[in-house]
Formats: sequence, structure tokens, C-alpha cells
Amino acid sequence: MTLHRNIRTTAEYQAIDAAHHWHPFTDTKDLNAKGARVIVKAEGVWLTDSEGARILDGMAGLWCVNVGYGREEIVEAVARQMRELPYYNTFFQCTHPAAAEFAEALCAQAPAHMNRVFFTNSGSEANDTVFRLARVYWDCMGKPSKKIFIARRNGYHGSTVAAASLGGMAPMHAQSGLPIEGVRHIGQPYWFGEGRDSGMTPEEFGLARARELEAMIDELGADNVCAFVAEPIQGAGGVVIPPDSYWPEIQRICRERDILLVADEVICGFGRTGAWWGSETFGIEPDLMPIAKGMTSGYQPMGGVLISDRVAGPVIDKAGEFFHGFTYSGHPAAAAAGLANLRIMQEERLVERAARIAAPRLAQVWRALADHPLVGEARCRGLVGALELVRSKPDMARFPEHVGAGALCRDLSVRNGLVMRAVGDTMIIAPPLVISEDEIDELGARARRTLDDLAERLEREGAL
Ligand code: PMP
Repeated sequence: MTLHRNIRTTAEYQAIDAAHHWHPFTDTKDLNAKGARVIVKAEGVWLTDSEGARILDGMAGLWCVNVGYGREEIVEAVARQMRELPYYNTFFQCTHPAAAEFAEALCAQAPAHMNRVFFTNSGSEANDTVFRLARVYWDCMGKPSKKIFIARRNGYHGSTVAAASLGGMAPMHAQSGLPIEGVRHIGQPYWFGEGRDSGMTPEEFGLARARELEAMIDELGADNVCAFVAEPIQGAGGVVIPPDSYWPEIQRICRERDILLVADEVICGFGRTGAWWGSETFGIEPDLMPIAKGMTSGYQPMGGVLISDRVAGPVIDKAGEFFHGFTYSGHPAAAAAGLANLRIMQEERLVERAARIAAPRLAQVWRALADHPLVGEARCRGLVGALELVRSKPDMARFPEHVGAGALCRDLSVRNGLVMRAVGDTMIIAPPLVISEDEIDELGARARRTLDDLAERLEREGAL
């Protein structure tokens, strides 16, 4: 059996890739000077590159391969579906068994007040769907002036125009004249990065950041505000875990001001935080939840929006046709992958296992890294974590930007056989939920070796 198609050499792949393949979120000149790493196969939590190196995938692909690689049940379900019905649309008064069954199963697993899903192909499209659907909802409620979205600086909701506008990534905005009209941003509950010098405790800081929402709604007038959109834990922004005071206050403000609450569960959903939903971890009841990633564990591209009864009721009742959708909304192969993925998670009780066994082990192994001279903070929740790199302690001085400590750490990590991602000088991980206790120990050992290598390198370069 051929497992992969790496019939060319690494250099040949790098050459054709450099010549023809434009990568997402990449400085092409910089990448082409180095050559891309060629990943050829994977099993469990382990990647293999074209040179035969085995690398522990501490990022579950891109926060998505929750059930791990090599799950034959999903492969079989997709193959079976593609033989039977590779494609049909869900536009023109049609459905098919895969979409209908996946919708039923998803809603059974969703919070009790969410009983409908709108299928998209990605998390970005899910957030664009939120942008349109939330406004239609307020039209149906007789409040068409409620159009403004409030989101957060350093939030991430995708790369399409509305999703990137909801996101608060300054470099993305700067490149293309975003955000579009009707989107405003408040501060993030990032205590290590922005709260430590405030004189507030983390809990006080969480409350203060939540109350920026209240202040902005009051400034704009609640009659003009549609929804607040945020990730339960910011992922791409650097695994920002909010203080416990934050989310209950946000929920109170949204309820009191009659603003829809949108929890972007693209990363947090499907077990990442140690519960099925990040909203569950933080005890909130959102009106809309964009999902993707763990929805199929990345075996097929798919996203969606879980829709509460509160929103679905008036829209279905009053809006008539919702002029929105994608050729591949509910794609049969993606839905079959999603259904097989969900069954694996339920039958193997992966979320419960992650919460009971993997998360406590990771917490122990990961937080222990805080004693390293280069680590200012080691935080985690469920199976997602971050390390803050610092030049010195206890003053927690950061490295000057030109040192590129995070990027260097990431490269050293891969050399040590561990994928960690760098967000500035914040190192982040989100391994597959199926990671074993031994593999978590290995992850910790490789991360520590990497930090030691980083210290040695920075010292040699005079940056320490
Ligand atoms: N929302 C969040 C919270 C995300 O992390 C991402 C992707 N990293 C998206 C939306 C966008 O998803 P996609 O890349 O599938 O469009």
C-alpha cells in the first residue's frame, strides 16, 4: 500500500513549491530562501517529514486534528460517502443523509438552547455568516438600527473581509483598509501582556476589560449595537486565557443591554478547553457559535454556525429567504467526516478523557516550565497552553523585537522534534486530544530542551 506520494526529493518539492505555491500568512521571499518543511505523513500525534524525521505535533495541525491522525473510521466514512454521493447541493429544496444526520448529531452535542446549524467551509465563512445573520435577526425583531459589531483587539476570527474586520489583528487591518464600517474593537483580557503593570489583580483586570464593552455600548447607544463577538480563549492572539471574572461580566452586559453574544468556538469547540465547548468552560450561554477545525478534526474542510432558538425562531418566522450560502454548504464528504469524527469523540469519550487525564498531566508538565529562566508565565487550560518568553526575571522584561526570540524558539523546537507555534514571543501549544500521558511528558521534555537551547543561543548572540 502506498502511504504517501513523496516520490520526489525534499529539494525538488521545495523548488516546485517555491515556484508555484503561495502560502497563507507567509513572507514568500523569506520562505523561499529557506525552503518549506515537507510533511509527508502522520499517525496519532506524530508527523513525519520528507527526511524521515518524526515530530510531535504540539499544535494538532492548526488547532484542528483533535482525534489525532490516521483514524481509519473517518477515511472509510468519507470514501463510502464519495462512492455513494460525492456531491449534491443543499440549496434548492434538497438535502442528503450526510448533512441531515450530521446536523442532528451536532445539535444533540451542542448546548441545549442551540438546535440548528448553518454549514460553511471554514471558520472565516462561519464568522461572515454570523455578520449577516445577526443583522437579519435584528431586522426581524423590528430593530434594524442594531448593526454595529463589537469585537476585540488581538482577536482572530478569520481572513475573509467581515471575519478579518471582526478580528483585531492590526497588521491584517493595515494591509487592506480594514475594518469595514460597522465594527468596533475593545481591549483584550490579556493579563500578562497588558494587565501586570496596571496595579490591578487579574480578576480586577478581567472586570475592567469586560466593562470596556459596557462603556462602548453606552457610547454607541444599545439601539445601534448588534452583537459582541469573541473567542472564549483567544487562540491565534497567543492563547489568552481570561481571568475568571471576565466572561460572567460580559454575559451580564450583553443581557442587560440586549446585545447578541457570539462565542467563536472555532478553536475552543470540540473539547479543546476540557469541556465540549469553551462557553461551557466559562459558564456562558451564547446566541451564536461559529465552529470549524475540530468539527471534522481537519479530515475535511468544514465550518458552521450553531444557532440558538432565540435567533433561529424570529429569522425563520419572519425573514423569508436568507440570501446566503455556499456551493459546498453541508458537503456530503465533509459531513460524513464530521459525523465519523463526532462518533469517535463520543464513543471514546475523548473530551472527558482530556479533562480527567490529559489536561491535569499537561497542567503539571507545562506549568513546571515556569521555573525556566526564560519563562515569565506558563499557562494552560484543557489542552491549550502558552509560555511567555522573557529576557529577565522577576522584572519580566521582554526581548527587543529585533531579537526574534519567539521565531528562534519555534525553529529550535522543530529541530528538537516538537511543533510549537510562536506568536511574537509567546510560544503556544494545542496538541491532539488523544495525546497520551507519556507523550505529554515527552512534549514537556522537548519544550525544556528547546528553552535551554534558546538560552544558549541568545547568550552566544549577546541578547541575554
Ligand atoms: N475563528 C477562530 C477563533 C480561529 O482560530 C480561526 C482560524 N485559526 C478562524 C476563525 C478562521 O477559520 P478558517 O481558517 O477555517 O477560516
